[in-house]
Amino acid sequence: MLASALRAAGHAVVAASAVSQDSRDRIDALLPGVPVLEVPQVVERAELVLLTVPDDVLPGLVAGIAETGGWQAGQIVIHTAGRYGTQVLEPAQRAGAIPVALHPAMTFTGTSIDLSRLVGCPFAVTAPAPVLPIGQALVVEIGGEPVVLPEAARPLYHAALAHGANHLVTLVAQAMRSLQQAGIEEPGAYLTPLLTAALDGTLRDGELALTGPVLRGDAGTVAEHLERLAELAGQDATFVDLPPTYRALARATTQRAWAGGRFADSTARALLDAIDPPADTPGVPDTAPTATPDLPAAPADHPGRAPQPTDPPDPQTDPASPVLVRTRAELRSALGRQHGTRAVVMTMGALHEGHLDLVREARRRADHVVVTIFVNPLQFGAGEDLDAYPRDLEADLAKVAAAGADIVFAPDRQTVYPDGEPAVRIDPGPVATRLEGATRPTHFAGVLTVVHKLLHLTRPDVALFGQKDAQQLALVRSMVRDLDLDVEVVAVPIRREPDGLAMSSRNAYLDAPQRQAALALSAALTAGAERVTDGAAAVLRAAREHLAAAPGIRLDYLELVDPETMEPVQFGQGGPALLAVAAWVGSTRLIDNVILDLQEDE
Ligand code: AMP
Repeated sequence: MLASALRAAGHAVVAASAVSQDSRDRIDALLPGVPVLEVPQVVERAELVLLTVPDDVLPGLVAGIAETGGWQAGQIVIHTAGRYGTQVLEPAQRAGAIPVALHPAMTFTGTSIDLSRLVGCPFAVTAPAPVLPIGQALVVEIGGEPVVLPEAARPLYHAALAHGANHLVTLVAQAMRSLQQAGIEEPGAYLTPLLTAALDGTLRDGELALTGPVLRGDAGTVAEHLERLAELAGQDATFVDLPPTYRALARATTQRAWAGGRFADSTARALLDAIDPPADTPGVPDTAPTATPDLPAAPADHPGRAPQPTDPPDPQTDPASPVLVRTRAELRSALGRQHGTRAVVMTMGALHEGHLDLVREARRRADHVVVTIFVNPLQFGAGEDLDAYPRDLEADLAKVAAAGADIVFAPDRQTVYPDGEPAVRIDPGPVATRLEGATRPTHFAGVLTVVHKLLHLTRPDVALFGQKDAQQLALVRSMVRDLDLDVEVVAVPIRREPDGLAMSSRNAYLDAPQRQAALALSAALTAGAERVTDGAAAVLRAAREHLAAAPGIRLDYLELVDPETMEPVQFGQGGPALLAVAAWVGSTRLIDNVILDLQEDE
């Protein structure tokens, strides 16, 4: 499009390069008659080279052309990536080329409509001082308004534009979809006058243009909005991003209005409490030193307020929040944006610190972390808790954000099994008939089938599994070995509550007496482990005795097995052994285990 504008201004466009079919079509439409050539040939023929590639591709492209000696002395090289100045063109500059960075503050459609949008459009121009006039002149030629921007200011400049323009799209689209849910048939038409007035007002008066419940201090209204949005997100997962966005913007709006002296501390406090009810904000100390512990510092000229501590890090507004992807196409495109190594953590959601240990370990082991959240129907037997299994995607997102996930893949059943139940499955072999498999005969075929699928969909270098599900871990390891899957399997130790109970999403089913009764599982394992120096028989006896005396639990199995084959260890045998237990507490089935290093009996 810029090339087309330069052509209209009288420059000859000698050639263009395109990789995708879309780019070829655009060249056909906007630059008719211009030959499409490979990059080196375009660079060889042109006195002025325009690089309009994605930001992340630019450094490699410039360096690649330099490596093959493509840049020529005196050649003008322009890129249009917002976040970069001319430093990125240094390899071209070293070969004598003239570097210029241009960035139009405009959004483009890729069609000829764009040409008219260039007229009067502000362009940031960054270039070494002697060649700045070249960049400015080019902008003027195509009808734009050049604005000189220093190299160091480019990232902030670009962040500001992206935040304003791109996030506005998300915000307005969220409002349109919500209105549709409220029964407004043409939300776009309905919103136009309101949003136009708000935009005009803000561009003219800044934050003074604010109206609405936050400015009026209507904490009750804000709380009700959040309640309704949470309800909507609960009914329809495609709205799951709405409550955190509303909350983040309501918080920022409150803080900005307070800092601008628009209302009293107590009003700000009431609003912030409605936005983040205090019980849910563990980062804020109970004995707050001031009445407004999480308000930002007021500007120095704002009377009567001492500087306040800054907010604790907030996963919901943290820029490192993960991308939520729900379809295969979204996942593919999110993965395509990652470079470097990748770790995957597979979960069924309702996340707790045990899951987050996996995410944190993943963070340490790879450049990128993908967390999958999918309650896999294939691994639930008839009469099991598939429908009742706890689900809370919004809370899960906030938790994995804090633990460092980059992508959360939360597909629905249809996405994972588009043709219904798969006809071809992984046969987990004899290990799957023992322990858990004796009670849940189809469980591990379902687990390994979904693990295999998710490994293929996410293509990780490392996959992390919890020791909590020791038999699952052993089976995943043997699947990877037996089927030559190219992934490293890493085990993560069991995370327990302070009283010893192994963390599990199913603990949420337990009432207070059951929660107390459930402690018998970990206590029995500890009783067994204490006898490890006395050999296998003593370990089993101690654990059994403990369970026999425990009220409120129904034992499924307690076994001391080989951690790979899950076969019972022979009495007298030494080496690593897994002491594993499963029991019912009420209608909840819990499992736990501990790895022991057995002493050989004489
Ligand atoms: P789930 O969501 O229960 O399927 O668990 C997902 C992953 O988290 C599995 O690899 C589990 O073994 C692991 N996991 C679950 N609970 C714990 C825990 N208490 N400690 C460590 N890992 C766990």
